[in-house]
Amino acid sequence: MKAAVLEAVKRLSVKDVPTPKAAGSMALVRVKACGICMTDYKAFSGDRTNVSFPTICGHEFAGVIEQVGEGVRFFSPGDEVICAPVANCGVCAECRNGFAQYCKNGAVIGGDGMQNVLDGAFAEYTLVPEVALFRKPKKVSFEAAALTEPLAGSYKGLIEYSQLKITEDLVIIGAGSMGLLAAMIAQRAGANTVILVDVSDWRLEFSKKCGATHTVNSTKVNAKKAVYGIVPNGPDLVFEAAGALPAAQLMFELCRRGTRVNEFGVTTEGSIQVSPATIHWLETRMDASFSVYPRVMQQSIRLQEKGFVDAGKIITHRFPLDRIDDGMAMMQQEERVKVVVTP
Ligand SMILES: [Zn+2]
Ligand SMILES: [Zn+2]
Repeated sequence: MKAAVLEAVKRLSVKDVPTPKAAGSMALVRVKACGICMTDYKAFSGDRTNVSFPTICGHEFAGVIEQVGEGVRFFSPGDEVICAPVANCGVCAECRNGFAQYCKNGAVIGGDGMQNVLDGAFAEYTLVPEVALFRKPKKVSFEAAALTEPLAGSYKGLIEYSQLKITEDLVIIGAGSMGLLAAMIAQRAGANTVILVDVSDWRLEFSKKCGATHTVNSTKVNAKKAVYGIVPNGPDLVFEAAGALPAAQLMFELCRRGTRVNEFGVTTEGSIQVSPATIHWLETRMDASFSVYPRVMQQSIRLQEKGFVDAGKIITHRFPLDRIDDGMAMMQQEERVKVVVTP
């Protein structure tokens, strides 16, 4: 089969490798579409250090089951599936506490966050443990279905953890894929105001198609003044989806008394200035959210099946596997949101 093998930093070669065989509880999935996540790009660019080469990245994907191992119980060849990147054991303390994404015995397919990494979906085929398979509704396209995992990530942060409610005023910092998916969910969930803050006019313009009611370019205006110009009483919820320290700083600066915040974006080391006393007197409510667990995958499949959210809306570029290098180059461009690779 053809696969994009990351052999070293910035050395991605599309070549023939042996097609894996399904055994045990593994299914062999023929990949139909796979999104490029920022973490894939960071493995390619060398910004992510927990990568052992050679590796095949790609964890946002959907496809068709080609073959199943003898231990696969509920899926058969021909089934159209959405794959979660997390294969968890279901038995360890993390799993039983509801944190399958931190499973002590788990593996992550083509991605980041766990010690044990299985080959991912920048390939014609990939092996997926049955526990990570979900049925794809017929009416959801493979491309949109491939984005179920990022959609589920935003859903988990915004709805399950931060409990966004109808009529609330929301600020989302960062109009990248995750911020835009969050905006679409917020619109559907009945948010009153959805203010997108970003540094790119192009992305802010794009966000208007994804449910943003207002946009603020933080390089051009004072973001706090602009936000309070729109919602004079301050936001109910601030969702940090930019992944940069200044965004986390801004998240706290935007709080009025009782604002809920979600540190969703920043996953790297570093610190910001926050006064515990300010948090105390403002009674700031904190949340953070990383990755997905099975429940939110199911909810996000339902969101798409019902037509509540079309994750495919954020796809701006598509490349065949042979041209994945161009896809990686596109990740550095400002004028793109989600880049999808098809075999
Ligand atoms: Zn991802
Ligand atoms: Zn576990």
